[in-house]
Amino acid sequence: MTSPTDVYQKRLAAVRQRFAEWEVDGLLIGSPSNRRWLSGLAGSAGQLLITHDKALLATDFRYWQQAAAQAPAFTLFKHRRTDEDNAAFFAEAGAAIVGVEAEHVTLAERAKLDKVENVTWSPLKETAEPLRSIKDTVEIETIRAAAAITDQAMAQVNHIVRPGMSERALAWELEKMMRQLGAEGMAFDVIVASGPNAALPHHHPGERQLQAGDAIIVDMGARLDGYHSDMTRSFYLGDEPDEPYWSVYNLVQAAQTAVLDHIKPGMSARAVDALARDIITVSDHGDHFGHGLGHGVGLFIHETPILSPRADENETIAAGMALTIEPGIYIPGWGGVRIEDLILVTENGFDYLSHCPKTPIIPIKRGDSHSSHFAL
Ligand code: ZN
Ligand code: ZN
Repeated sequence: MTSPTDVYQKRLAAVRQRFAEWEVDGLLIGSPSNRRWLSGLAGSAGQLLITHDKALLATDFRYWQQAAAQAPAFTLFKHRRTDEDNAAFFAEAGAAIVGVEAEHVTLAERAKLDKVENVTWSPLKETAEPLRSIKDTVEIETIRAAAAITDQAMAQVNHIVRPGMSERALAWELEKMMRQLGAEGMAFDVIVASGPNAALPHHHPGERQLQAGDAIIVDMGARLDGYHSDMTRSFYLGDEPDEPYWSVYNLVQAAQTAVLDHIKPGMSARAVDALARDIITVSDHGDHFGHGLGHGVGLFIHETPILSPRADENETIAAGMALTIEPGIYIPGWGGVRIEDLILVTENGFDYLSHCPKTPIIPIKRGDSHSSHFAL
């Protein structure tokens, strides 16, 4: 059986293997997801400095005990946030050319690095991200459990939505439910977008009250042990959706089905995106699908690979990736529909990580018109 330390030694070996290609003899990691994936440290501050034979973790007083417990593959450097400690940290590693995370280092951090002598900094667009995209068994089971919590809460939407309930009240009910089901937090703020607000892909829930005839988009995910889940369902509040709603809903559903019917390892991220986009575009809604088809999910909510027409042309999908497939159509002034499932790419195709049924109609029951019960 592999011990936790073996997992992190394996991950360290995997990044060290890339040193020659990056032309570095050291790697500095400060971004939370890469730091946690490489070391195990779940704290909010700390820098990893990895060389061919050393793995150092510098963090401040708040995390000294936690680092010793969570990051056994690393040697703890007790950093007191002084320039002297900074110099000593890099001197201890002894690397001459150190890769830094170009997407994450701020100008203030860069200024501190520039004070360090005898080190050349080499900006790297990606470091551990491509390695993180392939999940191991423990990661998959954690994401699966986070998705199961999301499924259970999402399945309640049809039962708790009433005309007169505000977007914010519904978002709070769902957040409470996910916490009660064991989520350590939300993957991101719950999105509830109703009526015309459903035309805004990342609408922030407000005081608008749900009403008959509304399109409603609910996008949410639970977080568990640092791992995220992500799922969207679209609803129609009323017994009989009008024809425009059905035609948009069915088109989005058809676009998602086209992806799930064909997705397999080895396909490019652009080709996967095109499976859905082509269907939406031929129905004259191409301009209403302004975001990418999906993204990787793990310690970060939107991670490599991004499925989009603008993806790197060499980006391909592989078995072990946890991906969202989330086509959407957003029509200003009218509303929108998005359907998002989380899947695991397998050798032969995919497995669903999301299981919540798609039941878009929320019938209005007699006596539903008063909202006081749900007012916060
Ligand atoms: Zn989502
Ligand atoms: Zn998503």
